[in-house]
Amino acid sequence: MAGVAGLVLNTFPCTQCGLCCQNVHLAAETRYLDRGDGTCTHYSELTTGCSIYAERPDICRVDRQFALNYAQQYSWQTFVELNLQVCRLLAEQAAVPAQRIRLVDDPDL
Ligand code: SF4
Ligand code: SF4
Repeated sequence: MAGVAGLVLNTFPCTQCGLCCQNVHLAAETRYLDRGDGTCTHYSELTTGCSIYAERPDICRVDRQFALNYAQQYSWQTFVELNLQVCRLLAEQAAVPAQRIRLVDDPDL
């Protein structure tokens, strides 16, 4: 895929889980998008995606963020891995309540 600023980037392997859009309160750069419960005001529960995808802000575009702010520090591959670490942390965080519910519902506890 051709990235911005003439960089050739592989596509970021987003699974479209929507967790980053449901946790915009966690980063100073995206906090302004919080509708009040940590979820972005542009997140659609109906489609589980961004309702303004084509016009989403630069902070939501991983390839643009790389070109604008991180290309001098990291390779694209490293930048992808750093972002994926955040994706995994969000997935682990999201799994905790489900685990707790299962434990509480366990009649043996
Ligand atoms: S948390 Fe990661 S995998 Fe999930 S939608 Fe956001 S960028 Fe994609
Ligand atoms: S603007 Fe779109 S891509 Fe960005 S956090 Fe909100 S819902 Fe997600």
